[in-house]
Amino acid sequence: MTDIVEMKGMNKYFGNLHVLKDIDLTVAKGEVVVIIGASGSGKSTLIRCVNGLEEFESGHLKVDGHPLAPKSGNPRSLAEIRKEVGMVFQQFNLFPHLTVRKNIMLAPKKVKSTSDTVANATAERLLNRVGIGNQADKYPSQLSGGQQQRVAIARALAMEPRLMLFDEPTSALDPEMIGEVLDVMRELAKEGMTMMVVTHEMGFAREVADRVIYIHEGQIVEQGKPDDVFDNPQNERTQAFLSRVL
Ligand code: ADP
Ligand code: MG
Repeated sequence: MTDIVEMKGMNKYFGNLHVLKDIDLTVAKGEVVVIIGASGSGKSTLIRCVNGLEEFESGHLKVDGHPLAPKSGNPRSLAEIRKEVGMVFQQFNLFPHLTVRKNIMLAPKKVKSTSDTVANATAERLLNRVGIGNQADKYPSQLSGGQQQRVAIARALAMEPRLMLFDEPTSALDPEMIGEVLDVMRELAKEGMTMMVVTHEMGFAREVADRVIYIHEGQIVEQGKPDDVFDNPQNERTQAFLSRVL
């Protein structure tokens, strides 16, 4: 099997704070990995390292075969990785002054020199796919949170990513909108997208994840198939965490 993400012995500090401790993690092509853990345990930092939004101090990282070195990085790899890895944040991060359509067209035009016609057709196709084909000419502020997050997913997909990273994509949403975003993610997973998802939606994790990873204070302390991790956690930290959230 091809590994899209290969992380070996990764350590990351913010000043004196040791945030990621000797992380070994591979993600296979088509695999859906859900990362769970308490607030502050390093989940965001871990997935932000994967697309080079954070540097790390030691260890090895390869994303779709492109090596990223500690600290100095590797500008050429970084540019390739940014093209191939889509990211969806808790706070949507749409461009407020651009319509939904233009939000989605921007990166393909800028980064891949896609023509206006093709970028527009892609935007319309993806908006239909996430169920908001009729919202293309609105501005983000005119949409609900759930709709904005679906635009953010469509925008990431427009770059034809090989890997999608989701950092608590439903945490900022009103409860009634969480389902519509999880539905889109579930579809993506079914279609074979490789995904790393940080979420507190344990039902989603159980249903969609191939593997669940529990992080405690910057370390992977347990991982496995969702049913095993949720029903029969081996580590006492995992047990304590799950007893709080389930
Ligand atoms: P999680 O996503 O699991 O809540 P984070 O990865 O955001 O955790 O943060 C892990 C730790 O690193 C926390 O203690 C947090 O306060 C700290 N941290 C995160 N980002 C920064 C930063 N840019 N500068 C300093 N400390 C940070
Ligand atoms: Mg976080």
